[in-house]
Amino acid sequence: MPELVLSNVDILKGLRVVICEDEAVTQMQMRRALTRAGMNVVASAFDGNQAIEAVLRERPDVVLMDIRMPKRTGLEAAREILAVAPVCVVILTAFSDTEIRAQAEQLGTSGYIVKPITHDLLLPCIAKAYARWLERSGSAER
Ligand SMILES: [Mg+2]
Repeated sequence: MPELVLSNVDILKGLRVVICEDEAVTQMQMRRALTRAGMNVVASAFDGNQAIEAVLRERPDVVLMDIRMPKRTGLEAAREILAVAPVCVVILTAFSDTEIRAQAEQLGTSGYIVKPITHDLLLPCIAKAYARWLERSGSAER
């Protein structure tokens, strides 16, 4: 694994993002931080089913995905989404467990952020995940 290199957050400007997070306060904080960075929050989901529905409907550039959510976990939702729609999924979770991290990686997610995270690190981490996703998807995307 390469060392953590923080990407320029400018690449996030104008990107469409769906926030999947069951805690209203956290969701609001995310929305604020992403909007401030110039991202366009097109939908929010409070559970795993809503997450799948919102992402497949909106086809965003980036999905911020909590793991512990009602109805379906974020990992289950990510699996369903990535089976039909290639998208940059960034896991945002309190689980720092390496097994869960490996599972997320196997599903094809692009980033894994452990909460709580400070605002000055959140955006560079998302930018890094998006840059990684662009690199992986190559010319197949758009
Ligand atoms: Mg949660």
